[in-house]
Amino acid sequence: MSGEKQKYDVAIIGAGFCGTLVAVNLAMSGIPLRVALIERNRVHGRGLAYGTGDYKHLLNVRADQMGAFPWDIGHFYRWVTANAASLTAANLGKPDPGAYLPRRVYGEYIQALLKESLRQNPRMELLHDQVVRVVPNAGGVYFITGKNGLEAAAKSVVLAPGNFPPAAQAQNAPWYKNDAYSPDTLRELAEPGDVLIIGSGLTSLDVLATLEHTKKDGHIHVLSRRGLFPQVHQKHAASAPFLDANHLPATTRELVRQVRGQIRQAEEQGTDWRPVIDSMRPFHALIWRNLPRNEQRRFLRHVQGLWDTHRHRCAPEIMQVKARLEQEGRLTCHQGRIQNLNPESGAVEIIYQPRRLMQPRKIRVSKILNCTGPQSNYQKLGDPLIRQLLADDLLAPDPLNMGICTDHQGTVQNARGLAIPRLYTLGSNRRGGLYESIAVPELRAQAAEVARQILSHHQYETHPT
Ligand SMILES: Cc1cc2nc3c(=O)[nH]c(=O)nc-3n(C[C@H](O)[C@H](O)[C@H](O)COP(=O)(O)OP(=O)(O)OC[C@H]3O[C@@H](n4cnc5c(N)ncnc54)[C@H](O)[C@@H]3O)c2cc1C
Repeated sequence: MSGEKQKYDVAIIGAGFCGTLVAVNLAMSGIPLRVALIERNRVHGRGLAYGTGDYKHLLNVRADQMGAFPWDIGHFYRWVTANAASLTAANLGKPDPGAYLPRRVYGEYIQALLKESLRQNPRMELLHDQVVRVVPNAGGVYFITGKNGLEAAAKSVVLAPGNFPPAAQAQNAPWYKNDAYSPDTLRELAEPGDVLIIGSGLTSLDVLATLEHTKKDGHIHVLSRRGLFPQVHQKHAASAPFLDANHLPATTRELVRQVRGQIRQAEEQGTDWRPVIDSMRPFHALIWRNLPRNEQRRFLRHVQGLWDTHRHRCAPEIMQVKARLEQEGRLTCHQGRIQNLNPESGAVEIIYQPRRLMQPRKIRVSKILNCTGPQSNYQKLGDPLIRQLLADDLLAPDPLNMGICTDHQGTVQNARGLAIPRLYTLGSNRRGGLYESIAVPELRAQAAEVARQILSHHQYETHPT
């Protein structure tokens, strides 16, 4: 495409959960904005998490909590019970409200919402390209350029790029993979030969769920520093919040002390730690912002691993996969730190320092998959759009390198702390300011808020007061 740029009120870059939900919220307003929803991959409305083709990859939030709107969290459950076909394909009957359903089904739900939005707002367009440049011009409009020829202009831009791949531990090596959800990677891991998965979080559990059925020959190793796997969900009655928004802990030590105390009390009363952790959800961002920077660093160093595995739990079915693989002698989990990766002919030798042991150990495998979590240090990203926005001072890494700086409503800020007018973002790149900015319950609220901001600008431009 060249010459005249297509003009839009809003360009949304990335059509995974976040970008799509901003578009859906805009359409629901009934205001016929010209919206471009731009996605580099083939499919709009799924993104990384809900684009998986494997029905064994499950949601880690119960069905009745996964509605796409903060004012209607039961929406997904009602949709899924009314759309039995999506479950029949997964060999499932009518689900329990507390079921952990396949993420692929959730992707169908988001796509159904998008389809309805296109009907509500015929001025919305789905575009395919990888956006590589976003540049504001003097007239207050952003020029948007795609790798494959897209040229567009928009008054407001929403950055919704999702997670970036983990930091590479080896470059261009045929035995090294860091894209856990690529069908090619999963196929290669299933080939005969031993494999190593680095990291023991939700992604590595997904990979185990796939390999349990596809890998017929070869041992699976999982190596992580502390061997912390996600905890498992269990049914419990909710407990009342114990935190008071006016008296939040100002140090990590105090926070840990209060949480431990509550868990001890819960256990004495015959309940469990899970409702205690869950009761903190409305306070996450407030607690995080209340901690001074050095205390936030302390939290990341000492508490993050434990917190994340207790906060982001997995479906019981998923942990059963791990237990089965171990019982069958197909999986070994190691704790330690990698010292060296030595390529050999057709294989790689991993030397690692086991936790609390003196002598290094070796594992020899034919493939390594890095599941250590997304790269969140924006200064280290190779993504052309992010590099351009950083170079033009249109965004800034947050001080803890957990994403980028924004205000409380999701407007992007530059390195001088100035809000960039009508440039919004949402998703995991807001972790520096919110800490918890990963799961649907937080993201659906952000999507509604970004849409609200865009609409209020539009209304002001149309009817200035
Ligand atoms: C594997 C996994 C499982 C999860 N499971 C759950 C769960 O069960 N429950 C829960 O509450 N949360 C879950 N989450 C967390 C959260 O719901 C998801 O991460 C959520 O989908 C994030 O949405 P997003 O739009 O930010 O990113 P994504 O959904 O990944 O979407 C980003 C999109 O942007 C596109 N894109 C990026 N850059 C460009 C560009 N320059 N130009 C054009 N397009 C671009 C990408 O191709 C992608 O489609 C999970 C996350 C992951 C990674």
